[in-house]
Parts: sequence; structure tokens; C-alpha cells
Amino acid sequence: MKYVVVTGGVMSGLGKGITAASIGRILINRGYHVTSVKIDPYLNIDAGLMNPAQHGEVFVLKDGGEADLDLGNYERFLDIELTRDHNLTTGKIYSSVISKERHGDYLGATVQIIPHITDEIKDRIKHAAESWVDKDGNHAEICIVEVGGTVGDIESMPFLEAVRQMHWEYGNGDFALVHVTLLPADTMGDLKTKPTQHSVKALRELGLEADIIVGRSNLPVSLSTKRKISSFCDVDVHAVISAQTAPDTYLVPMELEKEGMAEVLLKQLHLEPGKADNSWYSLIAREYTNRITVGIITKYGVEDVYISIKEALKHAGRLLSTEVAIHWLDAELYTNEDLADLDGILIPGGFGNRGIEGMISAIQYAREHKKPLLGLCLGFQLCVIEFMRNVVGYKDATSEEMGAGTHAIALLPEQEGVEDLGGTMRLGDYSVTLDPASRLADLYGATEIIERHRHRYEVNPAYIDEIEAKGMKFVGRNGRRMEALELADHPYFVATQFHPEFRSRPTRPSAPFIGFVKTCRDLQRKE
Ligand code: GLN
Repeated sequence: MKYVVVTGGVMSGLGKGITAASIGRILINRGYHVTSVKIDPYLNIDAGLMNPAQHGEVFVLKDGGEADLDLGNYERFLDIELTRDHNLTTGKIYSSVISKERHGDYLGATVQIIPHITDEIKDRIKHAAESWVDKDGNHAEICIVEVGGTVGDIESMPFLEAVRQMHWEYGNGDFALVHVTLLPADTMGDLKTKPTQHSVKALRELGLEADIIVGRSNLPVSLSTKRKISSFCDVDVHAVISAQTAPDTYLVPMELEKEGMAEVLLKQLHLEPGKADNSWYSLIAREYTNRITVGIITKYGVEDVYISIKEALKHAGRLLSTEVAIHWLDAELYTNEDLADLDGILIPGGFGNRGIEGMISAIQYAREHKKPLLGLCLGFQLCVIEFMRNVVGYKDATSEEMGAGTHAIALLPEQEGVEDLGGTMRLGDYSVTLDPASRLADLYGATEIIERHRHRYEVNPAYIDEIEAKGMKFVGRNGRRMEALELADHPYFVATQFHPEFRSRPTRPSAPFIGFVKTCRDLQRKE
């Protein structure tokens, strides 16, 4: 196993995750099998209970792991599936070391950050890398390890120490360190290397040396700037890679490829560069001949909360030569004029009361005005509530999550008595059986599908018959659990209890998204 460790300098939000995922894509294009590990140096066990408005989307993995959104980037760019073992946090490391200590596993020893915490980190990185297999049973030859945060943060110190030890243990041919840094422009438009020099110095103080430096900037990086970085930071000039902000994140691998990243990195890893298979680029590069506008009704003001939905719309749009412009509409502030301008309405997942009345009104608008609608998770549940209120006739219909009323949506029976909130929802992959006559079965081209889940509530079985008698059909089920619904007399009114966005890939867009974008596009053409 060879390791490519990616660290960040100067500041967060540089696109380190996209850079790391793009490196993975380049290595796959050269014929290698690649997996990844993301390190998040916070004390939470996982991202499940973190506010997405602060931390970004919680990405749900097939085994139900609730992970950092970067795991989503890896799955999309590398076209792989990961598990909870691929997201390390300080919380996971310390809780396991402390429970081993109580168990007596270190009997006699004084348990310390070095070696006990650092050994735990190394063991877990190696375990995740070595135990991973792809869908064809191949093991990885290369593991990308992305260290969250910025070099110099107190939180990431034990992880960087573990990385230093790994470098020593593995030696040069099996280890490469890629340092992603910022090249800001001064008022004259010249790129400045000083912050990079300082962050490389911070790395050195920890006993780490960068093999490759990726300079993020909004402007092209000149050869003289590269030479300067090379001489100050002890890396070959070819190992200074420019990563100029790209108009589309999926273009970043190609940009890095052009900069010679693959050759430099594979040389460092003592691997043959081979010839790049660039078919991935042609699969994702599409020409747009149409443009639709989709409204996402949300209570959050931050787009990063729904990054997988944004990407899934993009994936479907590319397939259909349709550029999807997204209007983020505040669930508490939008007006019906805002809705009238849209080609389609998307109601995403979420938790809690705030904004739900606005989302329900938007669903009613979509149903009555025959606007294409896609509802996901909470969006699915609110479609049921809207139908119960305005068609079936239960004016006080709501979800048990939201308070008193007729509970069209009720707590899952197995959630009864669950006290700990972390990691206890119905999470990850579950199978769904689709009605062969449904639109979804047609779009998936299958009646047995697997999708990812993250919920505590479900359609109350007591009302299913009444709802279906009025024309809303539950076309996807897992036993007695309702998983997907459709309305027949509507161009596209589809909602799912599951989250199809998490399995969407640029090369394999998600079926419900394809149907949604296609209907928006076709209706717009007719107008
Ligand atoms: N809050 C709802 C539930 O727990 C929906 C969850 C979601 O949208 N992810 O069932």
C-alpha cells in the first residue's frame, strides 16, 4: 500500500478535498486502484449531530456512517463506495483508546498521545486502506489520506505526528506528501508566496516535508513564482503545481493532469506513469443546449448543506445537455411569484419545525399547478402531509417530529425508546421494491434497488389506504415501510424517503434526478 497524504496550509476552504479527490481520479485514470481516508480532527465521533449550516452536508455512507462532505467528493470523483472506517475523527480515536485502557489492553503502561493515540491513528488508516475492496473485489494500491484543518492547528497535531511516523516507516517510495496552499494576489495582481513559505515552515517544524506543493489561486501561476516556491520550499520546480480556480470542480483533475501532477506523484511513489485513460473526462464533459431553473426550498442560507443534491442535479443535467440553474428559496420568505418562475421545485431533507409550512405550501403549489416536483426524505414526508391536509381532508395532519395533530408521519417503531441521538437513525443502504408500473421503475430500469437512508420517522401505516384511495401511490416499499410516492395525473410528482443524491455519480446520474430534470426540460420546450 502506498500513501498520498494531503495537508492544507494558510487557511481552510482552499478546496483541499477537491484537490485530493482529483489526485485520486488522475491515479485511477493511470490504471491504479485508489481508496481514501478523510481525517477530521474534531472531538465528535462523526458528523451526524453537527449543524450542517456550520459544517456542511452530512454525507451518508452505505454502511450508515454519517460523514464529512469530503467523503462525497471521493465517492463522486473516484466512483467508489466508502464506509465509516474511512472517516477518522479525534472522537473515534480517543474513545477507542480510552475504552481499550479500561479493558486493560495497555496493562502496566502509562497511556499517552505518543505512542498510544498515534498508533491508533496509524492502525486505523492502514486498516481502512488495506481492508477496502471495490465492487469487482480489487484491493487498493494507493490510499489518499486527507488531513482536515490547517497545518499548525492544535487539533491536528496527533494526526500529523502519526503521518510523520508513517513517512519514516514506509520510506520514500511508498509515501508522498502533497501540501495544498494559497497563493494570494497583491493589489498589483502579483501572486505572493510568503504564506506558502510560512506554512511549509510549519510543516517542517513537525518533521514533515512536502513532496508536492499545490498552489491555489485565482490567476495563472508563472514559472518565476513556481521557481521561487521551489527554492524556498525544497521541492522540484515540476512539483509545484498550479491549481487555478476552475469553473467546474470536475475540471480540476484535468487541470492537475495538464500540470504534470501524475508524473511527479507516480515518480515519488516509484510507480510507472503509464498512459492516462482520459475517457472519464469525455463522460463528464457535455455541451448544454438547454437551461432550466430549479427552486430548492430550504431553511438554510448555506448551499454547502445540500452539496450532493447540487451535484446530482448537475450530473443529470449533463446527461440531458441541460444546464440546471438553482434558485435557493428561503422557506419562510419566498412568494408564489418566485415559484411561478421555476421549471421545477425540489424539497430537500431536513429536521425540525422551522420552514416546514413554507415547504408544504410549495408542494401544494407544485401539485395544483402541475410543476415538476422532487421531494427527498423530509420533502417526501411533507408531500404526504400536504396530501393528507388538502386532499384526504385531515386539516391538522403533521409529523410526530413537529408536534400535536394527526400524525401522517410517525416515529419508526424501532426508534421507540431510543435515547442517544448519535448514529441511531435508520441509516445507510436499504433495499426498495418498486411497483413495475411506476415511473421510478422505468427510470431505474429495475424494480429492486438500493439507496441510502437517514431518518427517524416514516409514513404512518394507519393512513396508507386512505391516502392511496385518493390517488397518491406508494410506488416504492421496504416491507411495510413506504419509500417512494408518485401522483399519476401530474407531469412529475415524485418523492422518496431515501436520499438518491448520495449515490449519484457524474458518470451515472441518479434515476429520480434524471426524470425530474428531463420533465422540467421537456415542459419548458413545449411552452
Ligand atoms: N426529519 C425527518 C426524519 O427524521 C427527515 C430526515 C431527513 O430529511 N433526512 O424522518
